[in-house]
Amino acid sequence: MTASSELVIGDPPTVASAGEHALIARIRARLPQPPDWLIAGPGDDAAIVAPVRNELQVVTTDACVEGVHFDRRFVPPSAAGHRAMAMNLSDLAAMGAEPRYALLSLLLPDALPLGDFDAILDGLLGEAARHQMPVAGGNITRSPGPLVIDVTAAGTVRPRRFLTRAGARAGDLVFVSGTIGAARAGLEMCRAGGGSAAADPAGPASRYLRPDARVRLGLLLGRRQAATACIDLSDGLADGARQLAHASALGIEIDAAALPIDAETRRWFESRGQDPVAAAVAGGDDYELLFTVSPKRAGRLRGVERLARGLALTRIGRMQKEPGVTLRREDGRVEDMPGGYEHFWR
Ligand SMILES: [Mg+2]
Repeated sequence: MTASSELVIGDPPTVASAGEHALIARIRARLPQPPDWLIAGPGDDAAIVAPVRNELQVVTTDACVEGVHFDRRFVPPSAAGHRAMAMNLSDLAAMGAEPRYALLSLLLPDALPLGDFDAILDGLLGEAARHQMPVAGGNITRSPGPLVIDVTAAGTVRPRRFLTRAGARAGDLVFVSGTIGAARAGLEMCRAGGGSAAADPAGPASRYLRPDARVRLGLLLGRRQAATACIDLSDGLADGARQLAHASALGIEIDAAALPIDAETRRWFESRGQDPVAAAVAGGDDYELLFTVSPKRAGRLRGVERLARGLALTRIGRMQKEPGVTLRREDGRVEDMPGGYEHFWR
């Protein structure tokens, strides 16, 4: 706690001035009563979790690094927390898993204001609570560089009810949930100084700042065995389609005219001189699900659709034997799918 003596009176309190133990106490004070199956939870050396009988465990981890995955100049701390939790929930959704618990690892720069720390927790814990996913433990450490919010999430799924990227067959229909490209448009709006989630909770900026992981859809697709393969679009539709095609050892043809791109997103890309289709398929952070359905099981998908609470499921293409991912344009031209989105090379 030496840092506190260096503080000028009147400065806002920082995480360094609070110290690690106080920060952990701050988190624990906000956690709801742990469930019975969490035999040892936050505060012990490790969590002890009772397994769910006859269910498989699904585990994922994803770190959000300031300067790589988000920019603190326009991503408010609560949105940084929300996004970090949502991207892990989205990975569970893609596997058809029900969220069970999360672990947090927070790497904090000394100068991070305590108010920002609390706001990061608002985003993380709010999103976890919305999916009834308790935080089972975690770790806080100083970062000499960027703020890092690292989340591990575990879920459960019944045997033969999970989804992977690898199960698609030639002739399967390709579907995507919701709309694509809005998060990229929202990121561009935020960068340009015009985007905030408060302005329009359904607009592109909100889609970027507060993505909604498609957990319910993933569960329905898995439980009803409606999908043959599934992936979440964390890195955009072009990248997701390539990953799914590769894992299934097939190709995909996507129909550009069928892609669900909302009007505001389309207008934004057009106003910036970009081709809306190319921009939308290359844009990351959609967190929609891309999945394949056997034509014989179209009836099961209609059942899923009825329970999906208004979430649109749009047929956008077909799996084919020939490898590669192509885009059929409205004029009938077939071209290679434009580039994906890789955080490392942005
Ligand atoms: Mg994923």
